[in-house]
Amino acid sequence: MTAISKILIANRGEIALRVLRACKELGIATVAVHSTADANAMHVRLADESVCIGPPPSRDSYLNIHQIVAACEITGADAVHPGYGFLSENAKFADILDAHGITFIGPTAEHIRLMGDKITAKKTAVELGIPVVPGSAGEVLPENALEIAREIGFPVLIKATAGGGGRGMKVAKSEEDLEEAVSTARSEALAAFGNDAVYMEKYLGKPRHIEVQIVGDGAGNAIHLGERDCSLQRRHQKVWEEANSPALNVEQRMNIGQICADAMKKMKYRGAGTIEFLYENGEFYFIEMNTRLQVEHPITEAITGIDLVHEQIRVASGAGLSVTQDEIVFSGHAIECRINAEDPRTFVPSPGTITHFHAPGGLGVRVDSGAYAGYKIPPYYDSLIGKLIVHGRTRVECMMRLRRVLDEFVVDGIKTTLPLFQDLVSNQDIANGDYDIHWLEKYLAETSA
Ligand code: ADP
Repeated sequence: MTAISKILIANRGEIALRVLRACKELGIATVAVHSTADANAMHVRLADESVCIGPPPSRDSYLNIHQIVAACEITGADAVHPGYGFLSENAKFADILDAHGITFIGPTAEHIRLMGDKITAKKTAVELGIPVVPGSAGEVLPENALEIAREIGFPVLIKATAGGGGRGMKVAKSEEDLEEAVSTARSEALAAFGNDAVYMEKYLGKPRHIEVQIVGDGAGNAIHLGERDCSLQRRHQKVWEEANSPALNVEQRMNIGQICADAMKKMKYRGAGTIEFLYENGEFYFIEMNTRLQVEHPITEAITGIDLVHEQIRVASGAGLSVTQDEIVFSGHAIECRINAEDPRTFVPSPGTITHFHAPGGLGVRVDSGAYAGYKIPPYYDSLIGKLIVHGRTRVECMMRLRRVLDEFVVDGIKTTLPLFQDLVSNQDIANGDYDIHWLEKYLAETSA
């Protein structure tokens, strides 16, 4: 066991704060790193120590591996928690920390690499007994695209091998669209990831996005913590998430959960991870695995009472998981709303100064946010300024509570996505849990004048 006594949090915003809270509860000292734009941020104020690692652009600060390793050396941090985004799925970063004798709180570099390449990830999923979306066996080139697409059957989806955030993804409805879809997907992928490799999948018409949370101890033990339904998306980005999925019954939940946990046992996976599926007509189709903590992890925490960051730190230090599968009790229903500093209809970012801020409270309410009155949102980063997580004994109770809580939440001075959630919580389809991955885009198109 490698005891961890000081963790450097290589992130910012609400996730840096969330990791810091877990460290404090475990009696572990914390180091915040920050860019010059974040000198007054909450994660910096609440950490035991802080180090400025560079100017505002992420590539010069939060993505600057040299500066982060130097900050570990200066402060004597023996471990790094990467949060999500930034360096959380960067295998080279994990290798460099390892070479410096610093514990990376996450999976092995080998597993990050394996799942980071989507073609290899799909092949691995098949080997591990996880059902996948029908598609090309490997990379698709302009010259073989038509043949492969005919085999799969139209419509098809062209996806970037190195993909993320829905970039480099194009639908081809028919043969006429194919050439352009492949070439735009390739150039988008090259621009976003420096890698133009693409592959092809059957395009599913009305799927839900359902993902399974897993945690492994690296020694062949792994558990699942049920699923999250993240079907409400705009431009392939999640907006509202729920646990459990309104579409699954207990048997389906435990079946897919067990398939994932068994796969992670076989891999000897270490750390938290999420196995993402599309779900249509009772079938699950693997799309990717994220080898990190996800933005929406708190809804899983709400229905299980298990702190996922505590588990990550435990397994990174070799202490193993704190619970067995049989001890996990799923209780009630939770919904997360992502509060972005954006126009609630066009999603155009709205940086600026928050003039008033009042977070709601009461039973079953959690707000993860580094925002406060007077906080100036820097224009350089992601527009997520907070997450509202509401828990109830049933989905109905959760929705009623969410409606109450949204009315209480005050964020003035900037535009936020809060008004969108007020609309959604009153919508009949949402109340019925009757939506797929296209529902939100259609709703926005229909209701925006
Ligand atoms: P990324 O890594 O870019 O987020 P994913 O593979 O996770 O890419 O897919 C993101 C989203 O794109 C999914 O949640 C879903 O909405 C849509 N999507 C992905 N694959 C398919 C598919 N085969 N058919 C239909 N929609 C898909």
